[in-house]
Amino acid sequence: MKVHHLNCATMRPPLVAGGIVAHCLLIETDQGLTLVDTGFGTHEVSDPKATIDPLSRALLKPALDITETAISQVEQRGYTADDVRHILLTHLDLDHAGGLRDFPKATVHVLDTELEAATNPKGTKERARYPKAQREGVTFETHRAEGEDWFGFEAVSAIPGLPEDVLMVPLIGHTRGHTGIAVKGDDGWLLHAGDAYFYRGEVETPPSNIFALKLTAKQTETIREQRLSNVERLRELKAQGEVEVFCAHDPVELARLA
Ligand SMILES: [Zn+2]
Repeated sequence: MKVHHLNCATMRPPLVAGGIVAHCLLIETDQGLTLVDTGFGTHEVSDPKATIDPLSRALLKPALDITETAISQVEQRGYTADDVRHILLTHLDLDHAGGLRDFPKATVHVLDTELEAATNPKGTKERARYPKAQREGVTFETHRAEGEDWFGFEAVSAIPGLPEDVLMVPLIGHTRGHTGIAVKGDDGWLLHAGDAYFYRGEVETPPSNIFALKLTAKQTETIREQRLSNVERLRELKAQGEVEVFCAHDPVELARLA
């Protein structure tokens, strides 16, 4: 499978030197195109105030560049929106689910606990992170966080309509239904770890972090113990050297893979 690494949203949060990206994947399969995460889409770019709340706009400082939207990058490669049949989401935070409405023919795969969190949010944190407008008219297919073993992680496999080498690898913690997405591309296994961590140094040995992103991870977490234990498991996985592990927002990881 051919896998393209895209940046579908440049953001410049205060205190984060170099900014952050929304690392998404475009996968060409025999059955059409599949996206992993969608960053911000045309709706956010054309009318940001309708979707992105003032606090998120201040914290993320999104560039909102139309050429970065997933649909624009799909069209640049000679495809149309209708060629995208499946979208896998690490989670439903607004900077990951922004482009869903640009792909009306796609089935959107999420863990059941994530859609439940978005539709029945508990507390102020969950109520703020999942703008309802982003999910309007979207066809969801939910999956339970259980399945077969994948490098010591439990993985949801045999997702209808998708190749066998595309799996969901639940990494609960950042949100109630947060998951990684594993894809076996032409050069081996990739694991898109979403927001399981924010800074590349967190999964290196020995680990390192920067203050602003450590704070971001803490402020946006839902289940702390699980989040921290997953970072440790990802560090071990990376150290084994068989899987290319990367997160959603690190620009250096994206530059290495793009
Ligand atoms: Zn994020």
